[in-house]
Amino acid sequence: MLISGKKIAKEVFAQIKQELEGEDQKPGLAVVLVGEDPASKIYVSRKHKRAMSLGYHQETHLLSEDTPQEELLTLIDRLNQDEKIHGILVQLPLPNHIDSSLVLKRIKPEKDVDGFHPYNAGLLSQGQGHLIPCTAKGIAVMLESLDIPLSGLHAVVIGRSNIVGRPVAQLLEQHNCTVTLCHSRTQNLNDHLSRADIVVAAVGKANFVHGSALKEDCIVIDVGINRSENGSLCGDVDFDSAREKAKAITPVPGGVGPMTIAMLMKNTLESWKRFHNH
Ligand code: NDP
Repeated sequence: MLISGKKIAKEVFAQIKQELEGEDQKPGLAVVLVGEDPASKIYVSRKHKRAMSLGYHQETHLLSEDTPQEELLTLIDRLNQDEKIHGILVQLPLPNHIDSSLVLKRIKPEKDVDGFHPYNAGLLSQGQGHLIPCTAKGIAVMLESLDIPLSGLHAVVIGRSNIVGRPVAQLLEQHNCTVTLCHSRTQNLNDHLSRADIVVAAVGKANFVHGSALKEDCIVIDVGINRSENGSLCGDVDFDSAREKAKAITPVPGGVGPMTIAMLMKNTLESWKRFHNH
């Protein structure tokens, strides 16, 4: 079975539109991009378009590559105070002269719709997550949509970044999965994969996981966005071989990507609701 993130995301957008019907005050999302990274520009423009289509108040702040850190922090301070803005997202990666962790900490936790502030990361690690990192939250929603009890399943997450792997592992553990978190120092990765009921691949290496390593009837979530040798978009999983083994698998594109944007819109809606005591 193909798990269509595109289809589930559409349902999320329809729900959001319905919730906002008749509201005068709309959620406000500010997206900040520093520099000219081509992939980041595409992601920022997708976020802008989607927010507009939902009727959100949307601001995109485009800053030049050499913007001093202080200037970025001043902009965040201003957005923190702005009552029209309920969600602030600083597109990563930032240029090398800027300290990303300092910038992420400057965003008010209540407006941290990416869920990267240590306060929100701490809540998630204690099982009280509210603003949960969008990709991880999107993966949990996709797994829940399968109507397969997750409790007791063995999940192998490959990748331990704060953006994807670590929060995914925490969420799966909170769904009562038994989680193995793998990374670049993991030995015998294929042994872990051969026992996995759920595999989440967030490595950033094209076709890294081959179907031959997977357990029969597993569920595969492919987070990777890579360019293959012929220039086409591909994930971290070799789709054709994995599809033979898996009972459910996400495609790239059309899998995790649309869910990440859907959860960003959902997090912004949640912040707006808190602000207006809904
Ligand atoms: P990072 O580079 O931050 O993390 C990659 C992780 O993979 C690290 O934990 C690293 O281990 C691990 N890793 C690297 N090599 C191996 C290996 N040989 N065996 C096992 N583990 C390995 O990447 P991100 O988490 O930010 O992103 C991962 C992928 O997901 C990328 O392709 C990115 O583009 C994509 N992505 C997609 C999104 C979407 O919406 N679809 C959203 C965000 C990311 P170690 O920690 O030891 O270095």
